[in-house]
Amino acid sequence: MKVARFRVDGEIAFGVLDEAEQGSGIELVELTGDPIVAGYDTTGRRFKLEETQLLAPVIPRSKVVCVGKNYLDHVTEMQDVTGIAGGVPEEPLLFLKPNTSIVGPGDAIVRPAISDRVEHEGELAIVIGAVAKDVSEEDALRYVFGYTCANDVTARDLQVKDGQWTRGKGFDTFCPLGPVIDTDPDLSDARVVTRVNGEVRQDGRTSQLIHSLAYIVSYASQAFTLLPGDVILTGTPAGVGLLEAGDTVEVEVEGIGILRNRVV
Ligand code: MG
Repeated sequence: MKVARFRVDGEIAFGVLDEAEQGSGIELVELTGDPIVAGYDTTGRRFKLEETQLLAPVIPRSKVVCVGKNYLDHVTEMQDVTGIAGGVPEEPLLFLKPNTSIVGPGDAIVRPAISDRVEHEGELAIVIGAVAKDVSEEDALRYVFGYTCANDVTARDLQVKDGQWTRGKGFDTFCPLGPVIDTDPDLSDARVVTRVNGEVRQDGRTSQLIHSLAYIVSYASQAFTLLPGDVILTGTPAGVGLLEAGDTVEVEVEGIGILRNRVV
């Protein structure tokens, strides 16, 4: 099931995608509330997808947890390009992005004037569905509501200059999410691809993740209480690169959808 958050006629609502395409194209079936907390009761209203504006499918109450260096080929390129080194982390390397960094599909990524090097990092994101604290790897995926696409936009020069990552990864608009949350995708070997102006820049597969999705949720829950709606970015494949004003960047996770943003 694919869950969207959308605006129509000036109102914001949640809905489920009806991909059946019965002549009139894909439709959104409106829900009575946020399905993470309110379930799947419907209002009886339906909207044509193209008549709605999709929004970030979730705005975490508390945090976006990110995993750094979780694809081997990206670990190598970071060492080569930035000196951010240390090899393959034995444990997931966690950092946070503020929820004020989130924007939705179609929104602008705004390059801050104080950075000369804003880069894309296309990633698979986990959306938490239930309070999770100290959960085991075996149980971890039961606390997941679904999955979406994310762009861990990074001011690489500030990340290197600061010696830690909060500012370089935390600017407003630096966490595009969407277009939908898929509650049951096949992620055994899904392609995670990032394109800039149609050109493929990053091309990885979820089977290449160093730390598994279940392990990441369990590991993060040892540090933080994960709340419903919290988001975990699972790391980026090799090929990170510059975003310049006027660019269009797309993050596609196979089976989930395409997250498209413009850069200003
Ligand atoms: Mg990242």
